[in-house]
Amino acid sequence: MASNVLRGIAIMSALPILVHAQQSTPQITSEELKTHVRYLASDQLEGRGSGSAGNTAAAAYIIDRLREYGIRPAGDSGTYYQSFDFISKVKLGNHNTMTLEAPPSGGGKKKLQVDQDFRPFAFTSNTSVTGPLIFAGYGISAPDQNYDDYQGLDVNGKIVLVLQYSPDGTDPHGELNKFSSFRNKARTARDKGAAGLVMFTGPIDDPDDDLIPLAYDQAFASSGIPAVFIKRAAIAPLITSRGWALGALQDSLKARRKPIAIPMPEVRVDLTTDVVQVHATTANVLGYLPGTDPKVKDQVIVMGAHFDHLGWGGVGSGSLKPDTTAIHHGADDNASGTAGLLELAQAFGAEAQRLRRTFVFTFFSGEELGTLGSAYYVNHPSFPLSSTDVMVNMDMIGRLENKSLTVYGSGTSPSWGTLLAKEDKDSTFTLKLVPDGYGPSDHSQFYGKDIPVLFFFTGTHNDYHKPSDTWDRINYSGEEQVVRYVYSIVEDIDGAPERPGFTKVASSAPSGGGDRRSFRVTLGIIPDYAEGSEGMKIGGIRPGGPAEKAGLHAGDVIVNMGGKKIMNIYDYMGMLGELKPGDKVSVVVVREGKTMEFTAEMTKRN
Ligand SMILES: [Zn+2]
Repeated sequence: MASNVLRGIAIMSALPILVHAQQSTPQITSEELKTHVRYLASDQLEGRGSGSAGNTAAAAYIIDRLREYGIRPAGDSGTYYQSFDFISKVKLGNHNTMTLEAPPSGGGKKKLQVDQDFRPFAFTSNTSVTGPLIFAGYGISAPDQNYDDYQGLDVNGKIVLVLQYSPDGTDPHGELNKFSSFRNKARTARDKGAAGLVMFTGPIDDPDDDLIPLAYDQAFASSGIPAVFIKRAAIAPLITSRGWALGALQDSLKARRKPIAIPMPEVRVDLTTDVVQVHATTANVLGYLPGTDPKVKDQVIVMGAHFDHLGWGGVGSGSLKPDTTAIHHGADDNASGTAGLLELAQAFGAEAQRLRRTFVFTFFSGEELGTLGSAYYVNHPSFPLSSTDVMVNMDMIGRLENKSLTVYGSGTSPSWGTLLAKEDKDSTFTLKLVPDGYGPSDHSQFYGKDIPVLFFFTGTHNDYHKPSDTWDRINYSGEEQVVRYVYSIVEDIDGAPERPGFTKVASSAPSGGGDRRSFRVTLGIIPDYAEGSEGMKIGGIRPGGPAEKAGLHAGDVIVNMGGKKIMNIYDYMGMLGELKPGDKVSVVVVREGKTMEFTAEMTKRN
């Protein structure tokens, strides 16, 4: 509601923006870059969230420019659009019920109200369970840290009641808070045999006793058991009637770091959860220029940039100010790259007759949701990936400072090192070369298909993923230099008689996606976020890593690790959190319908 009110105001107050005040030129200019960025990052486009009207308006703007520049459509059935489906949010279904039934002396039967007394987690399993209640501290099992709320506890078939956070409180750097994510607690409860999970916040951590919002975390997976958040007010009497004041209970857990379990066999919980995933559609914008040299015209140079951003932000959006509902303008991320790609399309469009190879311009949507658009493209390419020579990505190229330009993927082809140095003729930049072809943007998807990549990036900053990433903070002349540099590199690749070779980079650098927490160990895989299968699909294997040595392949779906069921990426990340370098762990995967077991020796993560 609040966001709708805000939306109305923003639209009314948005000033009309003159898109084409002057005639545009084929040259790459800071003025034209600014014109594009100002429009794409304007209030009018509301942060270009995938599936939103602002995102559609951005796509329309890009297409208008591509037409002007003479770029041909390369999307679905002769259009520029390549549509794909994604899960935009989750909402409550009609069947969320929770009843607590105790003997008359213990409070009798209490029917709780969804959204008032309790709320399911977005990842809950949509089923019904009944069982006795048992309080199990913070619901953390971390024997390595000498802390185990489940020690000596039989929770089989029971509904486990746990506190949010950990004995370390809300401090995100607390040792035990590594184990305190909602997903992790649900996974632990399930692994211990619990039938369901109920979580609440202790008075020391949250005096307000608010329900947590229903926020989708961009993973398809459910926790395997029903899991809900409940208001302290609705559950506390059951604990206090047993002689525990909640604050004192938290203090004891913190001081002793020993489990305090309170079985309540006479309290029956009846729990049904129903969370519905809402699907939406968004589209990549694709255009191309055909090659003209008979020898290499079927070889493809892909240039890309994502044009989506975080919309109005909010919990689960990726915003670094998730408590504020405001337009996340995304000027640097990634109106800057989109503008750069438009300028490249215009420049190359003006000299189409001398392009030897086929040039493809890919404007991706869904990147902020986990590179969904580029994942869709590599599975439904407009031109064969086997003939795709290179993917050049631009994501956040608008904040050049001290000449510092980062180029990822510099090790993905033997040609790149020389080329990058040679085209930086006057040392315009201080180049920071990162050999790895994986990283937190769309080029990762192409590298995962064995295509050499180059990813240009001017670095992160304080406005990253915040509403303050606005058009007036862009260094346009710096961006012009970056885009001209990209232009000259692409020109060189096109001029070369041979296609660039491909190198798989041996790397232990942390992956940009998913493994965001501070694990001590790595398995050396790239998770595939776009898959909805049970288990966790491996999108890519890092050369020289434990997974490769163990014999795992890209495409394998991990279903069990260390004897624990892996239903999704969160189970997997939870497992990583429990392992030490040198641990040998069994990994069961499904490969082409067959179940196979491997042993991997975990290595230290750098
Ligand atoms: Zn971003």
